[in-house]
Amino acid sequence: MTGSGLRQFFLCARSLRRLPSDWDRSAEFSAFCERYEHELAEWLSAFAADLGNASAYCGKPKHVPELEDRVHEVFSRAGMDADFPRIEYRPALCLTHDVDYLRQTAQEVAKSMVARRRLPKLHGRKAYMESLRHLLEAEAACGARAAATIFVAGTTAYLRGWRGPVSWLLDPAYRLDGEEASWLLELFKEYGCEIGLHGSYHSSSDARSIANQLEALRAFHGAPVLSARQHWLRLADGAFGNLRACGIRTDSTLGWNNAAGFRCGMSRPFALALAGGGELAEVPMAVMDGAIFDSMKLDEDSALSLLCAILSEVQRRGGCVALDWHERSAVLGWSRVYEASLKWAASRGFRFLTVSEAATEYAGL
Ligand SMILES: [Zn+2]
Repeated sequence: MTGSGLRQFFLCARSLRRLPSDWDRSAEFSAFCERYEHELAEWLSAFAADLGNASAYCGKPKHVPELEDRVHEVFSRAGMDADFPRIEYRPALCLTHDVDYLRQTAQEVAKSMVARRRLPKLHGRKAYMESLRHLLEAEAACGARAAATIFVAGTTAYLRGWRGPVSWLLDPAYRLDGEEASWLLELFKEYGCEIGLHGSYHSSSDARSIANQLEALRAFHGAPVLSARQHWLRLADGAFGNLRACGIRTDSTLGWNNAAGFRCGMSRPFALALAGGGELAEVPMAVMDGAIFDSMKLDEDSALSLLCAILSEVQRRGGCVALDWHERSAVLGWSRVYEASLKWAASRGFRFLTVSEAATEYAGL
């Protein structure tokens, strides 16, 4: 196994058990890795496969964070339960919203026709911002005011000029200096949201593009931006290193476009080992509205059952994952399941954290 692979195992283990911060440089760690070489190699292979494929599960939910369980198994077999006990937390949720549109556009109508095979209803100019307000108000009613994280595109950096058909169709194309954007800014202030970057489809392979989009968002928001989720959950090779090099400390892109559950097999935030050294905190995104309603085509009852099954695993393990409900989800009829899952989580003692708070608490970053 490579040094960076062992480092990744250590970083995941460090978010699960009380380990010395430099344990991976100790003789004890070397002996541990030698003794459990086979188990660690299998663990890393599964972790890397999940990391590299945003569509791997294709509609099949991954209910159990099994790589987390395998970390615990190895420590137990090594007789280290007392030396390095599990870190217990009250479970937590990060309530996140990707802002793809500030109002309906021609591109969104085209995308909806592909996804749902029918012409969508037409909505007024304020409908999507009212939908976002509805979600934030539902969160506040569950005691989660000032806990939401909203990922916004730095569109000012790329809107001028032709960016190719993929970007035209898929990327957020709203202006950050229009009236809708000022409504968005008011919502951030009213509800005390954390703002993260929603990097454009092609940005993750290009550090300069990320830097430009971050600067546009920082100028719009008037404060540093330290967290990110890539649009369409697209992560090119080197994406995490590029995000970190641009000043991002926490990512929350690791989820699926067409499934739900625990990508990378973890139910709580952990640190990603970067190829060039350094770390990036990751808050796994367990359930996204479009994945369960559009791709998996679940009805409301099945969607809520799936959410409760996944959140039960999080609760049992004292974990913390992100949910992602887009700005327009109340308009699309997807907010009732969200509200019901928030009430379910609040009644079971979940805390609500921004992604930066979760990264600091769980991944120590
Ligand atoms: Zn998006």
